[in-house]
Amino acid sequence: MQKTKTYVSDTVSRLQPSGIRRFFDLAASMEGVISLGVGEPDFITPWSVREACILSLEQGYTSYTANAGLWELRKAISDYLARRFEVLYDPTNEIIVTVGASQALDVSLRAILNPGDEVIVVEPSFVSYAPLVSLAGGVPIPIQTSGKQQFKLQPEQIEQVVTPKTKALIICSPNNPTGTVLNRGELEQIARIVAKRDLLVISDEIYAELCYEEQYTSFPAIAHMRERTVLINGFSKGFAMTGWRLGFIAAPKDLAAAMLKIHQYTMMCAPTMAQYAAIEALQNGADDVEQMRKSYRQRRNFFVQSLNEIGLTCHMPGGAFYAFPSIQSTGMTSEQFAERLLLEEKVAVVPGHVFGASGEGYIRCSYASSLEQLQEAIRRMKRFLERL
Ligand code: PMP
Repeated sequence: MQKTKTYVSDTVSRLQPSGIRRFFDLAASMEGVISLGVGEPDFITPWSVREACILSLEQGYTSYTANAGLWELRKAISDYLARRFEVLYDPTNEIIVTVGASQALDVSLRAILNPGDEVIVVEPSFVSYAPLVSLAGGVPIPIQTSGKQQFKLQPEQIEQVVTPKTKALIICSPNNPTGTVLNRGELEQIARIVAKRDLLVISDEIYAELCYEEQYTSFPAIAHMRERTVLINGFSKGFAMTGWRLGFIAAPKDLAAAMLKIHQYTMMCAPTMAQYAAIEALQNGADDVEQMRKSYRQRRNFFVQSLNEIGLTCHMPGGAFYAFPSIQSTGMTSEQFAERLLLEEKVAVVPGHVFGASGEGYIRCSYASSLEQLQEAIRRMKRFLERL
């Protein structure tokens, strides 16, 4: 008998594919494209980190690890968090090694949400937050930040959307796609509302190592916030390890125990060889990270200044490796701008609307490309703008 129905769930049917992919696919089919589209470092993982992985394979460490991850790695993460961000987590029961920050987000949301619980998502945001909330049975509630305020979340915006069903707030500093960093004072203001409304904060700190202006403040380092924070971080960005698929969660032990149940049944453990590499990254990678940070900072300065010079107004992003200039002066939508720029000048950028409603009127450009490529991209964008 013919199949007469779809077997796909309603939740998944409703999910839209990520708007970023369409541009990647289009760009991949063309030659001579400069891609400022991808959200990953242009560095290869530091050699000593790769070597640690090779050594682990030579020694035959190819079995599963403990569900929460290798003890040595959890200890190294705990030491790193204390040393680098002044936050204390017990490696025995407050740290879980995950398959990227992506899985850390998924596990966190699934561990806390009852059907219909609301989670506040600050837009423009990383494209996965809202779909992950939906997949976990929750309802994403967007807050729109404004380019006029450098896309900084204003604490009163939280008050405006909180309902009795609000469970959590996701924050991301430095932010993807805006590069905006929230400083200690701004985090303290957010913390006051979070405490008043009894919310949990999922703090995505995946770009914490890529902060260019000031001392980075980790959200759980704010007074009284550790007990209501799930800290998410990983190795993809700061350590240039996207393909290794390794991240981690640090959370108070009752939450970590709940998350570990899901992780144990769905993932068993993160890849063993990547875990050995990560120990080396944390213990001896600081100089490599510093070199990469310096290089991004230099490219940021050149690129953002150049964007402003050619007429695309752009705030100076404090972190990550994204510039988020306004294209409003062109009168085009961000989709039209990105498509024409790609087809006419072979520069791939991501239209801002894919990151949420307040991203419309902006484009995301990753400056994790060589200085020569960035210079050429600016030449092409200038030519494109002059023709309009
Ligand atoms: N959070 C943010 C804000 C990101 O930009 C990304 C990667 N683009 C992730 C999480 C996922 O990172 P990972 O590679 O560790 O899964």
